Amino acid sequence: MEPKGRQESKGQNCFRCGKELPPGSLTYIAQIRIFAGFDGVLLEPEEGVEQQLKRLLKQVEQSDPEELEKEVYQEFHLILCKSCRDRLVGEIEHPWGRPGRFIH
Ligand SMILES: [Zn+2]
Repeated sequence: MEPKGRQESKGQNCFRCGKELPPGSLTYIAQIRIFAGFDGVLLEPEEGVEQQLKRLLKQVEQSDPEELEKEVYQEFHLILCKSCRDRLVGEIEHPWGRPGRFIH
């Protein structure tokens, strides 16, 4: 009998610690989107826009479109166990260490 939905019969592993996460266990999905930032400022290069455009077009021609797309936008779905999720959240909230930990 096939299980309902897209759930795989075999368990998954935590992205960070590799711990096995059997079906039905508590897991967390971290969805990460990385895309190129744009602050609305276009800097005019010294070589002139036309020259830069030509160079850019050449670059685009030579690049793998998939690679190019990755540079602009990438999305990840990471499966985490609870303790790794807690640690990741802690790192995001306090990237420079816990408050009060490095006070001189
Ligand atoms: Zn883990």
